[in-house]
Amino acid sequence: MSSFVVNIVTPDGIIFDHHAKFLVANTVAGSLGILPNHAPLISPLQIDAVRIDLDEEDNKNSEWVAVNGGIIEIRDNVVSIIANSAETEENIDVSRAKYAKQRAEEKIELARQKQDETIDMDRAEIALHRAINRLNVANKRR
Ligand code: ATP
Repeated sequence: MSSFVVNIVTPDGIIFDHHAKFLVANTVAGSLGILPNHAPLISPLQIDAVRIDLDEEDNKNSEWVAVNGGIIEIRDNVVSIIANSAETEENIDVSRAKYAKQRAEEKIELARQKQDETIDMDRAEIALHRAINRLNVANKRR
């Protein structure tokens, strides 16, 4: 078999469902390149971009998806990614992500200066990471 199925599912529904010939994802154990007939695997994912090389004869042969952590499962030539949120390049609202980045940076700065004891630094850093990931993926738009 020269391709495999990629499904990306979030609480919003199925956000991606295509045949692919290659996929690169960043797991907690490092970068993972997936070709057809990959061995079964389950791993937590980092908040990062997932690159999918589509198995389609069209102009667009690569797609990037901003995946907010979650889990990747490979089984029977199906790659499933289940995450709290994930957006394809064209679905990213850049101004929203810029605003989220700014809010997170402001919180981190306030927490660093110990001006606000109620700020959860880890939470702010994760929010910043999500926003930067979205902006990186949006920048890949051609
Ligand atoms: P925000 O602070 O802007 O809400 P967030 O990182 O807290 O961002 P999430 O909790 O990860 O947002 O996602 C909530 C929902 O909003 C999900 O459906 C996610 O896909 C969507 N979403 C969040 N940010 C964006 C964005 N910049 N563009 C498009 N959809 C987004």
